[in-house]
Amino acid sequence: MKLLFMGPPGAGKGTQARRIAEKYGIPQLSTGDMLRAAVKEGSDIGLKAKAVMESGGLVSDEIVIGIIADRTLAADCAGGFLLDGFPRTVAQAEALDRMLAERRHAIDHVIDLAADSEALVRRITGRSSCAGCGEGYHNEFKKPTHVGVCDKCGGQLTQRADDNEETVRNRLDAYQRQTAPLIDYYRRQGNLKDVDGMLPMDEVFDAICAILD
Ligand code: AMP
Repeated sequence: MKLLFMGPPGAGKGTQARRIAEKYGIPQLSTGDMLRAAVKEGSDIGLKAKAVMESGGLVSDEIVIGIIADRTLAADCAGGFLLDGFPRTVAQAEALDRMLAERRHAIDHVIDLAADSEALVRRITGRSSCAGCGEGYHNEFKKPTHVGVCDKCGGQLTQRADDNEETVRNRLDAYQRQTAPLIDYYRRQGNLKDVDGMLPMDEVFDAICAILD
């Protein structure tokens, strides 16, 4: 099963992608996570991506296409994968189509999580996650029992460097200008499924499972 999750920043892509990947036993391929790991490592790609990510812009097509072309060849992708946050431009979507066609593969479902911009700013600027296990929290909607400490594993909660209001507004703007056109791109291909990302998390999860099952 090859899945693609689309939606503006904060629509719940990452959270849902993690749950769906776990349920269906396929790897979650998040270009955002891979780029953050590269920045942390200080690799060539990380050095190139850091400033762009901090400003809320998009990293070059060449870099992310290269990352996904390599990653999807790994053994754990043989039974399928879930793309989370890639593609984000028409050029990336076209490169993905070419790459999959060469391998005689295709995306089975494109899930689009729709959400309202102002609600997204509130959602994103309040969120944090555990540096140990990745569990997500929110200072209004899902508070940890002890401030800054993960309920699940006791790890330290951290906020993403690009989850401040100014950067979030730039990320939403980049989404509108560069990524939203992909909705039509995939609708024309006939495999786009709309899911309301403003519903409670469990309802969003159930809606996605209903589509996939
Ligand atoms: P995310 O974790 O998906 O919100 O991504 C965080 C940041 O990584 C984005 O704001 C971009 O700067 C960069 N990024 C992630 N995926 C892509 C992509 N497919 N194309 C370009 N930039 C990306």
